[in-house]
Amino acid sequence: MAKRNFEVIIVGAGITGCALAYTLARYTDIKSIALIEKYEDVSTLNSKGTSNSQTIHAGDIETNYTLEKASITKRTAKMIERYCLGHHLQNDVIYSHQKMALGVGQKEVEFLLHRYEEFSQLFPYLEVWDKEKLKEIEPRIVYDANGNERKEEIVGVGTRDQWTTVDFYKLSKSFIEEIKKEDVVFEMFLNTEVKDIEKSTKRGYVVKTPKGNFYTDFVATDAGAHSLFLAHRMGFGLNLGCLPVAGSFYMTNQKLLHGKVYMIQNPKLPFAALHGDPDILADGNTRFGPTALILPKLERYKPGTYMDFWKTLRFDMNIVKALWKLLKESDIRNYLGRNFLYEVPVLNKYLFLRDARKIVPGLKLDEFEYAHGFGGIRPQVLNKDEQKLMLGEASIYTGEGLIFNMTPSPGATSCLGNAERDAKYIAKYLGKEFDSKHFEEELTEGEYCVLPEPIASQKAVVNLIRAEIARTHEKYTTDTIHNAPEEGFWDKPHSKLK
Ligand SMILES: Cc1cc2nc3c(=O)[nH]c(=O)nc-3n(C[C@H](O)[C@H](O)[C@H](O)COP(=O)(O)OP(=O)(O)OC[C@H]3O[C@@H](n4cnc5c(N)ncnc54)[C@H](O)[C@@H]3O)c2cc1C
Repeated sequence: MAKRNFEVIIVGAGITGCALAYTLARYTDIKSIALIEKYEDVSTLNSKGTSNSQTIHAGDIETNYTLEKASITKRTAKMIERYCLGHHLQNDVIYSHQKMALGVGQKEVEFLLHRYEEFSQLFPYLEVWDKEKLKEIEPRIVYDANGNERKEEIVGVGTRDQWTTVDFYKLSKSFIEEIKKEDVVFEMFLNTEVKDIEKSTKRGYVVKTPKGNFYTDFVATDAGAHSLFLAHRMGFGLNLGCLPVAGSFYMTNQKLLHGKVYMIQNPKLPFAALHGDPDILADGNTRFGPTALILPKLERYKPGTYMDFWKTLRFDMNIVKALWKLLKESDIRNYLGRNFLYEVPVLNKYLFLRDARKIVPGLKLDEFEYAHGFGGIRPQVLNKDEQKLMLGEASIYTGEGLIFNMTPSPGATSCLGNAERDAKYIAKYLGKEFDSKHFEEELTEGEYCVLPEPIASQKAVVNLIRAEIARTHEKYTTDTIHNAPEEGFWDKPHSKLK
């Protein structure tokens, strides 16, 4: 009969659970670990390659990240890179693409240039690309369907030599394979749903499944939205509710874009702005998305979980107030309304076309389709005490040998960072050792924030772009007040840099 007693049990074999199992096996002296997953394989939900945007969110082109948040995500994003390179997973699990944040129009361009100056110390590899350069490296964001240059000013801030893209399903598989090489008892139980976790009368916890009970000193629940569901069943996190926000995608049948193109994020919106990405599971064809739709269920493309949604929401007046606060912001209301319409057949393509043309001005209706079966659910957490939506990830540490992690985006990028945090905590709780030095040596790059030489020259480029924009504006106002703009004026508003 299979072993039923483990020092640590992890519930949920998505990327978070698999990364934690690997980290415990490799960097602690914990001797027995079980991973319990309700479906037939690891990472069949949000961590599956088709469910998410496959992006390593380092914070360099995510314009909603503050410098502080970016310095954390940079460290955790590097861990994925270091792990993959250390295991020779290039171009199988991890890929390198060009990537950029795109500013469209004067306000966004200035915002991006300013952000570049602020963030370039943390991300010294960032480059600033004006329209002329963008014509060369990402032409579809410059030209319309007739081959004319778009009229607005644009600028891209990005890089062409970083690891940007991951198949998080394959990464999960790799973690599991690597655990088998460690000196640890490790068992994975698939098709086994955890129904309840109860305190044992003797020691630790009993983890209850239809296939029998398991016993452990510590339970880490990495079950996505169901983490909160299980926490509530044990009486923890009752001040939190889960708002499942589904994200869908639109797929093209060609490589419209050479790399990732992210738009500037409206800071009032808790969800990622629309972006275009090469899909590594579709020959690099461009995938646009994700959209954002509140759905009354906890799992996408799986039957059931409607009742689990209502139980996890714990609907009351505080939820009503939190939702009211959210929806009274016209930006959020309009955004959610538009995103709802993105799911309505036929109409959705026309609406999406309008928004996606901000990235690709010449995009045509026959160039993309709603991507059926793609997308997942972001388990956003509502804090009832504060009556507000929490933007990032949320964890409940009970102090009694239990952790519950809820992981909306960028949860896949932070899988090893979260694992480091949890492994330290678990080891301490169990009186074991977490080998920080070994972890840091293998998976981190030490200190950041060194200002290398090329930054100064990049800043000079930024100032040149600024000056050119200023001159263009001055000229345009003079021309329009006194005369018509000179012929071809809009063809080259700020692209005169050599
Ligand atoms: C549209 C979209 C785009 C995204 N894009 C990105 C991106 O580009 N980059 C990024 O870093 N992040 C992205 N994310 C977020 C990322 O996908 C998630 O943060 C990440 O996949 C969460 O991993 P997880 O293992 O915590 O949860 P999941 O992948 O959801 O895994 C949870 C696991 O727990 C199992 N489980 C649940 N309940 C039980 C139970 N009772 N018993 C046993 N097992 C159970 C499930 O079956 C599942 O296997 C995106 C998310 C969405 C929805």
